Amino acid sequence: MDLPDPALGTPTLDRDAVRRVSLGITFDNTYARLPERFFARLPATPVAAPRLVRVNRPLAELLGIDADALESPGGVAALAGNAVPEGADPIAQAYAGHQFGGFTPQLGDGRAILLGEVVARDGTRRDIQLKGSGPTPFSRRGDGRAAIGPVLREFIISEAMYAMGVPTTRSLAAVRTGERVLRETVLPGAVLTRIAASHIRVGTFQYFAARQDVDALSILADYAIARHDPEAAHAERPYEAFLAGVVARQAALVARWLHLGFVHGVMNTDNTTVSGETIDYGPCAFLEAYDAGAVFSSIDYQGRYAYGNQPGIVQWNLARLAECLLPLFSDRQEDAMERAKAALSGFAPIFTEAYAAGLRAKIGLATARDGDDALVEDLLRRMADGEADFTLTFRRLCDAAADPAADAAVRILFSDPAAYDEWAPRWRARLAEEPVDGVTRRHAMRRVNPLVIPRNHLVEEALAAAARNDDGPFERLLAEVTRPYEERDAGRYAIPAKPAERVTQTFCGT
Ligand code: AMP
Ligand code: MG
Repeated sequence: MDLPDPALGTPTLDRDAVRRVSLGITFDNTYARLPERFFARLPATPVAAPRLVRVNRPLAELLGIDADALESPGGVAALAGNAVPEGADPIAQAYAGHQFGGFTPQLGDGRAILLGEVVARDGTRRDIQLKGSGPTPFSRRGDGRAAIGPVLREFIISEAMYAMGVPTTRSLAAVRTGERVLRETVLPGAVLTRIAASHIRVGTFQYFAARQDVDALSILADYAIARHDPEAAHAERPYEAFLAGVVARQAALVARWLHLGFVHGVMNTDNTTVSGETIDYGPCAFLEAYDAGAVFSSIDYQGRYAYGNQPGIVQWNLARLAECLLPLFSDRQEDAMERAKAALSGFAPIFTEAYAAGLRAKIGLATARDGDDALVEDLLRRMADGEADFTLTFRRLCDAAADPAADAAVRILFSDPAAYDEWAPRWRARLAEEPVDGVTRRHAMRRVNPLVIPRNHLVEEALAAAARNDDGPFERLLAEVTRPYEERDAGRYAIPAKPAERVTQTFCGT
């Protein structure tokens, strides 16, 4: 195969000309020490007038990074790509990917720069990446930039997901560039600083598989094992153990998405990590009324990435990873295929159990009995028919579990409240089989059923304001969605969109 090969590895700028700043960050850049064909080595492209929107101070603390230094002029310059922090070794990573089912052998960081890695206070290694940081050899026809809207969308939703306990990349900072980017309209530019357990994607493996570069595949797999599955290194068959590990993490992850009504929207293989973290908050959205067929992304014409399709798509993506690893499993094709199938077969039981256990917890059950799945499915069907708000129904059930008088607030969420009235006695009968007092149960339920999620209309409102240079709504929304489970009067942040406010489509905005 004759594949495009950008000038990987080679510096494209005079590195002595790059401005360095000391921020006291202790980098240890293992990915940049991999072979040169894994990336292009270049710094971010400076911008006109960096201005800080926000540093995520608790995250900086977790990473062992001095938040004051990040907020200083030198820090803001580094977060905008106008200076390189001392110790960083900036690169754009190579990767490929299936996008909506079609394979592109070369995608790569077309608008992102990996500054390097730090070991956080909890001992885990984290990537620090600038997104929207200017063109790279992978940019193709893109400008390498990001608009303020998508940057703040990722900030809000990634931090909300983290607060809800979902494995996810995180957002350390957002800065405005003082430049304009041209999309459908002219928008203010911004750069996001993304933190990830790594940026290794299914598509990273596909990049080397497409080039039949088995050497690179084994180097990448060994690297990923060291970083994400260190115990697999001691397994009898480390590469299969690694695949099984990725399968388990992704199965658990997609179950969490479903529990929260999350629709990723662009589950391409380049947006599927081997770490098991959610990545890429492009056209994502949360369900309002429960609907397994819900699609929000304006470019998902076929509904490929609909809410209820997500487990199937994750499996499809994992099968693409397995194909890449075949040469590492065995020299004999048949044997390799059998081994891949065995690892992939772990998905269904892990997903099914994680999904069911999460739903049981959402309705207040601590144990599993025959009939529980049917009880939950019946509720979901009634919610779908009655267009009941997904988040509020479960949140109000917490109160109803402690006190039947609270049924009133649940039943009015259904277009036909009788649908809830029929279900509730069966639910109560089942709850009665568990010797848990109502207050304890309510407490447990409130830790899995969020009061506040980043509702689509509130996100859109915040992004629209930011595009007009008003970051107030972003700040207020972020403050609310990062306390998802805490009981309080959250006002409009806990209420579904009115019909006129409803957001039915989301846009990548790349
Ligand atoms: P995404 O849709 O963010 O998952 O990106 C898919 C691919 O398109 C990746 O290779 C990105 O780097 C690239 N890409 C997206 N937006 C841009 C842009 N504005 N400039 C250059 N590359 C981009
Ligand atoms: Mg992406």
